[in-house]
Amino acid sequence: MAKNYYDILGVSKNATQDDIKKAYRALVKKYHPDLHPGDEAAAEKFKEINEANEVLSDEKKRKNYDTFGDPNGNMGGFGGQGGAGFSGFGGFEDIFGDIFGGFGGRSARAQTKTKGADITLELSLSFLDAAKGCTREIVYNRNETCKDCKGTGAKGGTAYKTCSKCGGSGQIQYTTGNGFFRSVSVRPCDECGGTGKQIIEQCPTCKGKGYAKATTKFTVNIPAGADTGSYITKQGYGEASKNGGPSGDLIIVIKVEPSKLFRRKNFDLYVDVPISFKTAALGGKIHIPLIDETLEYTIPEGTQNGKIFFVRGKGIKGMRGSGDLYIVVNVEVPTRLSKAQKSALEKFDGETELKQSPKMKQYKDDMEKMYGKNPYEK
Ligand SMILES: [Zn+2]
Ligand SMILES: [Zn+2]
Repeated sequence: MAKNYYDILGVSKNATQDDIKKAYRALVKKYHPDLHPGDEAAAEKFKEINEANEVLSDEKKRKNYDTFGDPNGNMGGFGGQGGAGFSGFGGFEDIFGDIFGGFGGRSARAQTKTKGADITLELSLSFLDAAKGCTREIVYNRNETCKDCKGTGAKGGTAYKTCSKCGGSGQIQYTTGNGFFRSVSVRPCDECGGTGKQIIEQCPTCKGKGYAKATTKFTVNIPAGADTGSYITKQGYGEASKNGGPSGDLIIVIKVEPSKLFRRKNFDLYVDVPISFKTAALGGKIHIPLIDETLEYTIPEGTQNGKIFFVRGKGIKGMRGSGDLYIVVNVEVPTRLSKAQKSALEKFDGETELKQSPKMKQYKDDMEKMYGKNPYEK
């Protein structure tokens, strides 16, 4: 991984949104370009800070970053390199716009070629497959750019000429208003649909559309630790553009099925373990499930119902280290006792009673003080 956003903001992996916001604001005040004119290093640092904040302040992106090492789950695609597209100074103006007076206008450039639509697919994974990581074949239908004409709609990809109406720019400028108020606007050329080209001879494969319905099939590697709501972006695997622009993206949204043995919270695992009354009282060994193996755990003598034991690093493995394991103990009260067992318990209770439990002793004292009544009186 190229950059560690946590290090850039100087916060821990477990930082809260508040911690992140505070760290970000402090760094922005320190590195803002207006305070360091002409200082390239400060400008670069400032860019990094914004990039880190944009990811870590968005829980969804943060989760993806923790799991996949990329905020958008970019695992490569037709676009090749899977770098995340950061939109610059998002959120900054909200905080500091009034102090520094903004950055100057963001220019809205008229786009002639539009990107194809994104496709979203839901991918269900079993709890263990998601935790361990797995491989899945993805099969779906989409409009694919026609290979014969490379999306131009013209035979062989070459049987077209420059649009005579827009001169190839794909846009028409027009003016509205009167002598006092005039506004110049740009709209896509209606003659060529914004492509800047006029087809001389149609591509026979796609009948001039430049795209056609096709089944797309590929294999995707789901890294260990994927959770419900994690998503993977495959650039260029979405719908073909309708006017020669790039294809949209495929967004695979992960849904993790619940497990009978585990619950998870991010990368931490919770296991509810029923133990016998005897094990709770006397202690004993018990096997606990982990993602790849089992763990022998010694329950100490005198374990109470609801007790949670913590084992560091035995949770789900992610890009940024492993989560922890929490063993939640449920003491099972014996039922269907034999006569002999019952009388043994009666004897046990008679012998030990209040001496055994500080909580029972406290309850008895409080009841006697306030109500003059022994709650355990037979
Ligand atoms: Zn045109
Ligand atoms: Zn074609």
